[in-house]
Amino acid sequence: MTSRSSELFAAAQERIPGGVNSPVRAFRHVGAQPFFVERARGAKIWDVDGNEYIDYIGSWGPAILGHTPKVIVDAVREAAARGLSFGIPNPLEVEMANLICAWMPSIEKVRMVNSGTEATMACVRLARGFTGRDKIIKFDGCYHGHVDALLVRSGSGALTHGRPDSAGVPQAFVDLTISLPFNDADVVRKCFAQNKGQIAAIIVEPVPANAGLYFANHDFLLTLREECTKNGALLIFDEVVTGFRAARGGAQEIYGVKPDLTALGKIIGGGLPVGAFGGRSEVMDQLSPDGPVYQAGTLSGNPLAMTAGLAQLHELERIDGWKLLERLGAHFEKLTRDAIAQAQIDITFHRIGSMFCLFFASGPIVDLADAQRSNLETFSKFFRGCLKRGVYFAPSQFETGFISTAHTREDIERTGAVMRESLSVL
Ligand SMILES: *Cc1c(COP(=O)(O)O)cnc(C)c1O
Repeated sequence: MTSRSSELFAAAQERIPGGVNSPVRAFRHVGAQPFFVERARGAKIWDVDGNEYIDYIGSWGPAILGHTPKVIVDAVREAAARGLSFGIPNPLEVEMANLICAWMPSIEKVRMVNSGTEATMACVRLARGFTGRDKIIKFDGCYHGHVDALLVRSGSGALTHGRPDSAGVPQAFVDLTISLPFNDADVVRKCFAQNKGQIAAIIVEPVPANAGLYFANHDFLLTLREECTKNGALLIFDEVVTGFRAARGGAQEIYGVKPDLTALGKIIGGGLPVGAFGGRSEVMDQLSPDGPVYQAGTLSGNPLAMTAGLAQLHELERIDGWKLLERLGAHFEKLTRDAIAQAQIDITFHRIGSMFCLFFASGPIVDLADAQRSNLETFSKFFRGCLKRGVYFAPSQFETGFISTAHTREDIERTGAVMRESLSVL
């Protein structure tokens, strides 16, 4: 069978490694080939062959208002007419900085970058510069972008493709990264005791969303805060996924834990390439030109990107998006649980607001080792079954699903029916 998508994929593979510009898009571990997108609007996405899908990826998080929201498209159009990039300060950067600091009170100063990877990379360098120490603690299954030092027992695409560590990362870098099991507070205490005066920072996804989706014990996050403070290390929250999604103030608002630094991305760009990192003034003031830690970016604070991000965040607030997403999420959860109950196979469903995951495994699932008990074969069949019926979930067991404010009750009802059908023929 040839389709426009399969022709394009063949051509892409000639010129782009794996045919994709980010590995998880390759669909390789679900026994399928990616479709090529023609356009997207609201909760729907259409491929170049005219197939329609209800989309639960939302560009991997950014599309919290759904695709092509009029408020963002109009604002970007207007901004584009005034200039695409200036490379000198513009007022939108100040507006964005004020908004971030207002919504996330742990952030007193903030720098804009162009991706989540850049944000976490800068946080790690800054923490090392501030503390004068080299070692970093991360957690198995947490993904922080493709930063050298953080691609150790990582999640997301690295995990999907069975290589949670990357070739090309010098052993000397990896030696400075300590990866610990998630949700084990004792191991963290022991690690600090064994590395006295050497740990610069802990970096953590407060809601791990890159090895499926599971949750921190509140005590675990409190222990991280306590141990960092006691040992003079910085606590970095990677809220690239959860920032402005889990709640207006991110996961740190929900858990009431205050990090020293926060990495942001995805939603903050409204679909354009944006990241940000910020935190305590005392730490942020170590950045160049005030301090000795170098960090820069030709396109950072780009006027189109700031415009898109601001339009998205203001619209979310205007429509009280978080309340709406919780309502839609609860409806989605009910229908999913009904479908699972009928299927009578081991599936563990997790949800927080508009983020969800169906693990094809029995519960409880509280860390990477648990997530890896999932039956990937059954997941793949489920994925293909849903896709065939017009529902597009992430092509990996180790990703999180996203609902947008543009998903209608009908979209969700239809999805419920598709899940029931797809599960019944597994
Ligand atoms: C997506 C993601 C990143 C990386 O962001 P990019 O924009 O893809 O570089 C970092 N951390 C988390 C938690 C993410 O989900």
